[in-house]
Amino acid sequence: MLRKLLLWGSENDFFSDHVARLGFVRRAVRRFMPGETSAEAIEEVVRLSVSRIRSVLALLGENVTEADEADDVTRHYEAVLKEIGARDLDAEISVKPTQLGIDIGEDVVAANLERILSTAKEHGHFVWIDMEGSDYVDRTLDLYRAARSRHTDTGVCLQAYLYRTAEDLAALLPINPSVRLVKGAYAESTKVAFPRKRDVDQNYLQLAQTLLDEIGSGGVRAAFATHDGALIRRIQEEATQRGMTPGDVEFQMLYGIGTTSQEKLAAQGHEVRVHISYGTAWFPWYMRRLAERPANLWFVMRKMMSR
Ligand SMILES: Cc1cc2nc3c(=O)[nH]c(=O)nc-3n(C[C@H](O)[C@H](O)[C@H](O)COP(=O)(O)OP(=O)(O)OC[C@H]3O[C@@H](n4cnc5c(N)ncnc54)[C@H](O)[C@@H]3O)c2cc1C
Repeated sequence: MLRKLLLWGSENDFFSDHVARLGFVRRAVRRFMPGETSAEAIEEVVRLSVSRIRSVLALLGENVTEADEADDVTRHYEAVLKEIGARDLDAEISVKPTQLGIDIGEDVVAANLERILSTAKEHGHFVWIDMEGSDYVDRTLDLYRAARSRHTDTGVCLQAYLYRTAEDLAALLPINPSVRLVKGAYAESTKVAFPRKRDVDQNYLQLAQTLLDEIGSGGVRAAFATHDGALIRRIQEEATQRGMTPGDVEFQMLYGIGTTSQEKLAAQGHEVRVHISYGTAWFPWYMRRLAERPANLWFVMRKMMSR
């Protein structure tokens, strides 16, 4: 119930306008993001690299309706790619189709993504495409297929809570995709998504098994993006059974969540990447983080008390 309420709040403009201005909410959000600027995010890239943890940068913002705004986002990413290239940092980026203008037109998002991918190629960086609400899945997969036909260093996120994902993954495999597997963060109806956590977890494991088989045969990159310790252990066991080493298996997590586990996995030899989000448009994204673990609300309350 609380999860549904928080996800509803993530899409509510009144909440976004008013709650996001409250000082204690702004202080609480710092747990999940180092700051609002790319400079602050890039400093974290440097800090994490000391523990062998690599990064993925993401500018917060979604559902852009003006072409100029999507253009600004594209320019921003081009500048970030140039900067991390010039500083020789091991960071990737992750973009949201709705932030690059998919709601304005498929030609708009495709052109903006192409600019970003070309800059990334020039500077030797990898670009992920986030998966948003289920209405965007077909368009996002089409966007990814077109991008992948021109650029190798690009990947897409797939969500284990959707019934359709096993079919989507099977359809992508012939193009040797890079896949970031997540459980899924949006409010979805039972018509399209498993309502029960145990079914989502079970589907995640099955999709992970398919991906592990494919990594073994080459061509495919898989990143298991989860903080779920039990699932991580199962994936490690499955990988060992396939004769894989920790270096063959990549995990990704969000900044500020599961920090000890990130360090432990990196020390075990896994590739670990942490998604560092930054920017001023953090409200809907932050509400989704609260919805994933409503106990996080206590943290917000504590920030309110300590003001
Ligand atoms: C790198 C990365 C990229 C992502 N990209 C996308 C995307 O493109 N599209 C999309 O729909 N979703 C994305 N997500 C979010 C994802 O779908 C889940 O909502 C989120 O990862 C929580 O699920 P979980 O796998 O950690 O498992 P859960 O079962 O939700 O959580 C397992 C454990 O992790 C900890 N945990 C999980 N979330 C939180 C939190 N917010 N605060 C504190 N502790 C927490 C808790 O200890 C919890 O018990 C991404 C997640 C990651 C890690």
